[in-house]
Amino acid sequence: MDNKYIIKAKKIVTVSELGSVKDGALLINNGIIAEISKWEDIRVKYPEIDVIDYSNFIITPGLVECHTHLLEFAPTSLYPVTQDTHFLAGQMIIFKALSSGITALGEQVCGHPLCDFSIEDYRNAVEALPIDVSFATTSISIGFEQLAHFTSVTKSRAVTKADLIDSSIVREIARNSDYPGENIFINATPANFTATEVPRAGEVIYSLEELKHISNIYHQLGKRIGAHVAGESGIEGALEAGIDVLHHAHGITDEQIKKAANNKVEIVATPIGGTHLQPNSPENILQFVKHNIPVSISTDAYLPPFEEIPWATFPKGTIVGPDALMLISHPSMQLLKQNGYDENTILALITLNPARLMGKEKQFGSLKAGLEANFVVAEGIPGLEIKEVDQIKAVYYKGKQVIKR
Ligand SMILES: [Zn+2]
Repeated sequence: MDNKYIIKAKKIVTVSELGSVKDGALLINNGIIAEISKWEDIRVKYPEIDVIDYSNFIITPGLVECHTHLLEFAPTSLYPVTQDTHFLAGQMIIFKALSSGITALGEQVCGHPLCDFSIEDYRNAVEALPIDVSFATTSISIGFEQLAHFTSVTKSRAVTKADLIDSSIVREIARNSDYPGENIFINATPANFTATEVPRAGEVIYSLEELKHISNIYHQLGKRIGAHVAGESGIEGALEAGIDVLHHAHGITDEQIKKAANNKVEIVATPIGGTHLQPNSPENILQFVKHNIPVSISTDAYLPPFEEIPWATFPKGTIVGPDALMLISHPSMQLLKQNGYDENTILALITLNPARLMGKEKQFGSLKAGLEANFVVAEGIPGLEIKEVDQIKAVYYKGKQVIKR
């Protein structure tokens, strides 16, 4: 195929100032969107260029999942891998995300007892893949009887609490981080373990002074910092210490939502789990949007769903991957629609907002001239109108068709 082609669609949901364009067309040139307009205008202007006809389908930006653990935690939880086959499984998991319409990921590298890999190893594993991956390097505290701490710069070796606040280690983590993912775990995490295995999940690990110290190191390097946080006291600490992005924010109070909005803090909501508390409800996510907080929805995959989630039904014992992003987002996106929000604003929660969080909104996250041609061809708007991956008919990355159903 020629480097230049036209995509014709029933509707293009651009998630940009253009809004939704009915009977629209995209002109793609060398992997970049050259023009978006009405089909009849593009046709007249470029009569000689090949057309791919998707006039029964909706085109949207490729989905962006900004909080996942697909390369570090997932391979050993899902497959009988060894050190040598770890990234083979990782790539298969990433392919599954791509086939679910996701063209950009925000991966966490936390440090893991079974993974003796460097940050470069993770970067190399995805370099040639047709998907954009940003990495957040982090430390992590797991809520076992004896708290266990790891960091992305000390690989599989456990560290002490003192190491977590050590300036040179924190600086090294911060330097390697591409974007404000869950750089620190303010509360000990339950991770993938059952409540009896992690009795100390939720425990606040840092004093306010320690949080300020860590946050300052990121800011001195000109970087924003994100935190895994849940519960009123943990969130209070995060807001006081100048943490820029709250991941989860389960159990946030109404007062704290106002404070987060005033402080221009962003939130990454994880509606199936991720902390010791009940995850973000659709009502909770609606409140964030009403307060103009930039909010992204993410799966935190692979995770077992929180035990009682009234707004999502997953069979007990399953662990849920990024292929469930649309399903997980659906109840919140529906509620936003009932509250009168435009489909572009709603779709931004799994496209433009996470792209901005990762600092890549000039590359992707919306459809407009000059951006990468990363888009999804689907039977409806992902997450809002469709929830099943089979309803995604094609995925394009930098102008190349990489998924076809
Ligand atoms: Zn996480």
